[in-house]
Amino acid sequence: MSNQHQGSCLCGGVQFELTGEFDKFFLCHCQRCQKGTGSVHAANLFSHPQQFKWLKGEELVTTYRLPDTRHSRSFCSNCGSAVPTYVEKLGLAVVPAGCLDTEVDKVPDARIYVGSAASWTKRLDNIPSFDQFIPSPDSAGGKD
Ligand SMILES: [Zn+2]
Ligand SMILES: [Zn+2]
Repeated sequence: MSNQHQGSCLCGGVQFELTGEFDKFFLCHCQRCQKGTGSVHAANLFSHPQQFKWLKGEELVTTYRLPDTRHSRSFCSNCGSAVPTYVEKLGLAVVPAGCLDTEVDKVPDARIYVGSAASWTKRLDNIPSFDQFIPSPDSAGGKD
């Protein structure tokens, strides 16, 4: 099992690498994370890495801090993708799982703030799943 992790944003402008274990992995359903991700929850890995390095595009990384809270999120200012927040003086990296290009072999530790979870997330068990975008009834020829 490697403790070397790499990640990037959607446009590829930001790339990073870190060495170390992930201590915690939380799926956060709070309203702030719903707004920030545009989805049902954030999926953040917490690490005190031996090394954290921006390989590319550190100048594109914007960190927004919600006033009077400890809530923050970092994103690529070109494509808007979530990227890690690295707090050098604490040696702490908060890494959105979705920006990693290397495999995440850790199972989430917990869902948190489920009291504010969107109501529709509790009714997902019986919806159909597809490998690709929903096939249209007349697309037997199969094109994108
Ligand atoms: Zn980007
Ligand atoms: Zn949250």
